[in-house]
This record gives sequence, structure tokens and C-alpha cells, in this order.
Amino acid sequence: MSHVVLNVSQSIMNEMKENYNQFKQDKHPPGSLFAAKVPGCTITAYNSGKVLFQGKSAEEESGKWGKSSVSSKPKAKPSIKEPTKYSPPADIGKLSIVGSDEVGTGDYFGPITVVAAFVAKEQIPLLKELGVRDSKNLKDPQIIAIARDLVKTVPYSLLTLPNEKYNQLQRKGYSQGKMKALLHNKAIQHVMQKVDGQEVDGILIDQFAKPDVYFGYLSREKSVVRENVFFETKAEGIHLAVAAASIIARYAFVQHMDNLSEAAGFPIPKGAGKQVDIAAAQIINSKGLQALEKFAKVHFANTDKAKVLAQKAKRP
Ligand code: MN
Repeated sequence: MSHVVLNVSQSIMNEMKENYNQFKQDKHPPGSLFAAKVPGCTITAYNSGKVLFQGKSAEEESGKWGKSSVSSKPKAKPSIKEPTKYSPPADIGKLSIVGSDEVGTGDYFGPITVVAAFVAKEQIPLLKELGVRDSKNLKDPQIIAIARDLVKTVPYSLLTLPNEKYNQLQRKGYSQGKMKALLHNKAIQHVMQKVDGQEVDGILIDQFAKPDVYFGYLSREKSVVRENVFFETKAEGIHLAVAAASIIARYAFVQHMDNLSEAAGFPIPKGAGKQVDIAAAQIINSKGLQALEKFAKVHFANTDKAKVLAQKAKRP
């Protein structure tokens, strides 16, 4: 069977994901982003940017995306990310798992919310029934409806990092990664306490940093959950515990955004784009620059853009 390995950029990877979405396979190997099957070819994409094409149309299929860096060289084995002790087991989707995820890290306005949630294997069918799935495919009203059921159904811990606190930590030199690691570890601890006595097969963290980096961030913590901790990107698609955590975190984030909108007197936008600059300028002009401290992550580039806009708006 022939195979071709491509090394692709993030943007090509995103294109591939979209392109093969309808051919995606439910199961994909540890360390991989997705696997898809088209006639004559299986495609496996890895977090490292490597994409493996296997099958009789491997050459043809990979040709759509670029030139191989490997297949023409004499027998270089495709270097695929080896599973580590942090890679989730293949059957993780059927186990009883604490999942954790966060929301709000890329949004200028609003807090970071982190949730860890426990889903026992017996609960998986019920959660499916409640509509729990990858929250990236859900709109806010659906998130809210599902989250309201979820919080009554699964043990969870929700931690919110208010913007004022975030800005303080950021000035002290904390990276977002470190803040996230501290919050994930704490939320996981809380849930482990809540479910004490129940069988927990493992902990799955939606990966935002390499495992060694994650534990490095926690090196000064008194208590760190290390045992049976697995990391995977896009973990929402791997276990419903992460999907549930993500939905509850998003629900909390949406509520905070509503509160901020009320305090501002106009709807506060998500993200970090142009609309955000405009909204921030409005806050500067109505409440003063200092007010941003409790609305936003002020070290984002949006603050400087908003200052310029605010000045412009003041001019006659
Ligand atoms: Mn995540």
C-alpha cells in the first residue's frame, strides 16, 4: 500500500479539516487531529502538521494539497507523533472521565471560565439524549438550554477568573497558559472531591499546552492532580465529559457577557475584532480608561486601538 506524508501549515490544515469534514471517521489514532476516508485513500492528520495519506489513491489525493516531503526520499519512515503516557487510551469515550475545558481566553471582554465535569460511563447515553456534543457546533441558545439540564445532571466545578484579577496576574508576569493550568488543576481537584468514592477512570484535559509545560506551570502548587491525566486537543470530540465542561463554561461566559452588557449599557461583543475595539472605545469615553480593568483583558492589542478610536470620537 502506498503512502504519502505532507507537512502542512495551520491554514492548509484548517482547509483540509473543512474539506474532509463529511468523510471524517469517528475514531482516530491518539495524537491525531482527525481521520477521514475517501475512495481509495485514508487521511490521518496530526497535531504536528503532518498528514498521512494511505491507499492506492494516496498520491493523487495528497497531490491536491502539495508536494510530499517524505515519499520521494529513500524510505524515510513517516515520523508520526508517538503516543505518550498522556495520550488518552483508545477506548476513552466509553470510560468514566473527568473532563476539563475553558472559555474566554481569546475574547477581549469577559472572564476566563474553566469547568471540570465528571461523566460516569452510565451517564453517556443520557448526556447524548440531552444534546451534549462539541459546543463549537452549538449556538448560544442551545448551549444555555443544554447547560441548564447539565448542571443538574453532572458533578462539576466552575471557576471564573474576573478580569480585574486576570489583569493583576498578567502584570505580575503570569501567562495565560499558567493561569489556565492553575484553574484547570483546581477545578479538577474540586470535582475529584465531589465524586470521592465513585470510580473515575481518568482525567481528560482539552490540551492548551504540552503536558510537560502544563505541569511546569503547576510546579509551585501544593497539590497537583497527576494520576491518569490525559491531554488531547479537540478533546470535546473524544469524551462527553469535556463537551459537558465546555458547554457549562460557555454558559457561564455568556451570562458574564450579559452582565457586562448591562453594566456598559450596550451589547458587549465577543472575540477580539473591530467591533470589540469600537465597544472598548465607547467604554473609555463613557466610563474612563480605568473602567476597562473590570470589563476586559487589557493587555490585548484592542486596548491601544480603542484608545485611538476614543480620541477620534471625541473630536468634533
Ligand atoms: Mn479548550
